[in-house]
Amino acid sequence: MNVLLVYPRFPDTYWSFRYALSFQGKRAAQPPLGLMTVAALLPESWSKRLVDTNVERLRDSDLAWADVVFLSGMHVQQQDLVSIVRRCRAHGCRTVVGGPIASSVPASELEADHVVIGEAEDLMAGLARDLERGEASAAYQAVERPSMERSPLPMLSLIRMNRYSTMTVQYSRGCPFNCEFCDIVEIYGRRPRTKAVAQALAEFDQLYAAGWRGPVFIVDDNFIGNKVRVRELLTAMAEWQAAHRYPFRFITEASLNLADDLHLLQAMKDAGFASVFLGIETPDESSLVAAHKLQNTRRNLLASIRLIQQYGIEVMGGFILGFDTDREDVFDRLVDFIEKSEIPIAMVGLLQAMPGTRLFRRLSGEGRILHAGGGNNTGCELNFLPRMNSTRLVEGYRSVLRRIYDREAYYARVRAYLSRCRPRYQANISFGNVRALCLAMLRLGVLGKSRLSYWRFLLAAATRHRRSFGAAMTMAVMGYHFQIMTERIAKAEG
Ligand code: SF4
Repeated sequence: MNVLLVYPRFPDTYWSFRYALSFQGKRAAQPPLGLMTVAALLPESWSKRLVDTNVERLRDSDLAWADVVFLSGMHVQQQDLVSIVRRCRAHGCRTVVGGPIASSVPASELEADHVVIGEAEDLMAGLARDLERGEASAAYQAVERPSMERSPLPMLSLIRMNRYSTMTVQYSRGCPFNCEFCDIVEIYGRRPRTKAVAQALAEFDQLYAAGWRGPVFIVDDNFIGNKVRVRELLTAMAEWQAAHRYPFRFITEASLNLADDLHLLQAMKDAGFASVFLGIETPDESSLVAAHKLQNTRRNLLASIRLIQQYGIEVMGGFILGFDTDREDVFDRLVDFIEKSEIPIAMVGLLQAMPGTRLFRRLSGEGRILHAGGGNNTGCELNFLPRMNSTRLVEGYRSVLRRIYDREAYYARVRAYLSRCRPRYQANISFGNVRALCLAMLRLGVLGKSRLSYWRFLLAAATRHRRSFGAAMTMAVMGYHFQIMTERIAKAEG
């Protein structure tokens, strides 16, 4: 059996990092880890190819080769996924769709021959057997959430690593919290399941043996969801990093209660964590309570963020506008908070009521759902009726983006952050880094809009923040991506 695994395109969002990646000559931020794992679950005797349409074209010859096409993706990839399914059908290829999208979008909207709902570990053997016999069912649904200890080593050989800026490893699934808007807990549950330490180390070994050096994103829903297990892992990671001369710089997603555990923070620092994405959502305590984001309440948010930053771990912050409790002053308060926290990368989005979430069910009951939404929270389209006037909300959202990604304001925020903290990222003098710096000088310093701001920032980085120069230059090109996306959002209809 010839199986083609296809990953649909992501639209341009803050998360795509597309405009920053171009400086490094990379085509996408991360490889399709889910499909690489599914490939490892399929029979060894099957021939496998993977096409990630974010980095390469899907050719008719690929479809002519395939007996069956497996697709996976997130809600935000739905449009491209469905167009690929239709193309497969036109070529007479059988299609199987899985991944988070199959758990949140009705099967009829995916138009595939077969859908896999839930996690793949316990389902692939049966599906493969049925496909070989020509008697596969329309839907395969996981009865329970599988142990991650049964998850195989992803098939790294299916991708070309040099097309991506970051490699990925998944250590756990699920999160113990219960934020009302979150679809992760609905899909992966509130009891975090982890791989064994040896499994995670085997994935690092595989990446290392393949020649990868640099950023590795631990793509967990909440890396510290099971603190006992993660402590064991961190001890092993620190030893592994030391034994291999610190080849990886780790990034992950976690909850803000990370700031309550200094031992855990120190262990993350020792293991080589450089950045963590935190869902901060809003500085408004009443909105946090209403959204059941209780782990962010009864604390000084700014102090928690600063503490994590002091460990050399950069905080990337997720923020949401559109809560029922948001008042007119929320826009000014959010800008003020982001400036005071000195978080360079702030992902601000409009609240989305994702199908399957408690928020979606509540708003449905109140007759406020407009449509299922597209999963892109950096657009201007609301899929529900907010309490605040919709036009005012979208205009306020755009004004927040304009203010935090105003070039002068952004560089000032990064400078303030670098004055207080020393990020762990040290850039070496490689061809890729020198090329990226030259390109940045050209695009930001010669062709860009605020040339003077860029040169002032570069000068400050080269003189006052010499030891963080690599991190400063990375933040400059990340800012470029956010500035372009902000301009597009400012012009978008909504
Ligand atoms: S902390 Fe994050 S992953 Fe956990 S429930 Fe809240 S939004 Fe979801």
